Amino acid sequence: MNAIDREQAVCAQNYAPLPIMLSHGEGVWLTDTAGVRRLDMMSGYSAVSLGHGHPRILKVLSEQARKLAVTSRAFHTEPLGPFLAKLCAVSGQEMALPMNTGAEAVETAIKAARRWGHRVKRIPDGAAEIIVAAGNFHGRTTTIVGFSSEESYRDGFGPFAPGFVTVPFGDEAAIADAITPNTAAILIEPIQGEAGIVVPPPGYLRALRALCDRHNVLLILDEVQSGLGRTGRWFAHQHEGIRADGLIVGKALGGGVYPVSAFLASRAVMSLFEPGSHGSTFGGNALAAAIGLEALIVIEEERLVERSAEQGAYMKARLEAMTGRLARSVRGLGLWVGVEIDPRVASAKALVKTLAAAGVLTKETHETVIRFAPPLTITRAELDWGLARCEAVFKEAAA
Ligand code: PMP
Repeated sequence: MNAIDREQAVCAQNYAPLPIMLSHGEGVWLTDTAGVRRLDMMSGYSAVSLGHGHPRILKVLSEQARKLAVTSRAFHTEPLGPFLAKLCAVSGQEMALPMNTGAEAVETAIKAARRWGHRVKRIPDGAAEIIVAAGNFHGRTTTIVGFSSEESYRDGFGPFAPGFVTVPFGDEAAIADAITPNTAAILIEPIQGEAGIVVPPPGYLRALRALCDRHNVLLILDEVQSGLGRTGRWFAHQHEGIRADGLIVGKALGGGVYPVSAFLASRAVMSLFEPGSHGSTFGGNALAAAIGLEALIVIEEERLVERSAEQGAYMKARLEAMTGRLARSVRGLGLWVGVEIDPRVASAKALVKTLAAAGVLTKETHETVIRFAPPLTITRAELDWGLARCEAVFKEAAA
């Protein structure tokens, strides 16, 4: 038995990893146990936006771990205030509730929305409705998969929590029709990531903002994957110049080394949580907070948001040009591009395998879309290295 088989024998098969055993990572590169180095063009689904082993993150990680890591929130610890102040400053929100994973921060947002509906909007307790979009991905808890439109996420896991109303993504009229006096919130990804980087029509988010204002509904945006520079803005909703009533961040906030997430909102919304109403042993721990703060400072000082916009436009244009008849569409913003492969011409799954053999790590979504999301720290030379390999693979497949 090799190491992969030994792992498979004891690890639940809830993922289907490529048969590559990674050993170490540095910047945009991942090296396997045989010593083969490949370019990471998926960044742990945006969790590794700063690249592997960013020196400033590693420094804070080791210094804070030696000093103080986990105490629970039964005590105050020094890094939490500066971290959340910075997070509020970059997102334009007033307060934050720290969590660990994206799904936990989404759960936090759902609780906030329901309590707000009940206490502020006077919706009877238990009757609040939250509007969500078809094709959404917000995590894997039973509440969250309960409103997923993906049957494989739900199969056999019911019963599910009521109170969610699903409408087509990108269709503002459908949302307008779905709003009732019991609607507390719209919970949506500004760009759907797991669905295959689906960008809604221009003006969609502005229309949702207007609907929320008109009907006194909270607009809660899940930017776990799209946030922190991935789309060439700090947050994807800033492309439409709108304000969110609630914002969910995660993934890249952990600097690629640690789970760090948060739900952000106004002081009024956050005041709905009192001691005892919500929490997590690890949420907001000193180590997480120190890393989160450093991740935000690195994004700012290394101009990763601007670099994502510049490099992303270049990457998208080149992917468009090189995929030609292979692709049904090439879409996305910043360093976040989905290439939808025409299944009559080639299989995305097979292409991902060929790309890995050629030295480029990506991942297919829903059988047809290949997602390109390299670390935002990628240099033009590294990007060119990867794109040259992609070009060779795509040319061969289209021949
Ligand atoms: N929301 C979005 C938009 C995501 O893309 C993801 C993860 N892919 C999550 C939430 C869940 O995050 P986590 O896996 O950290 O729970």
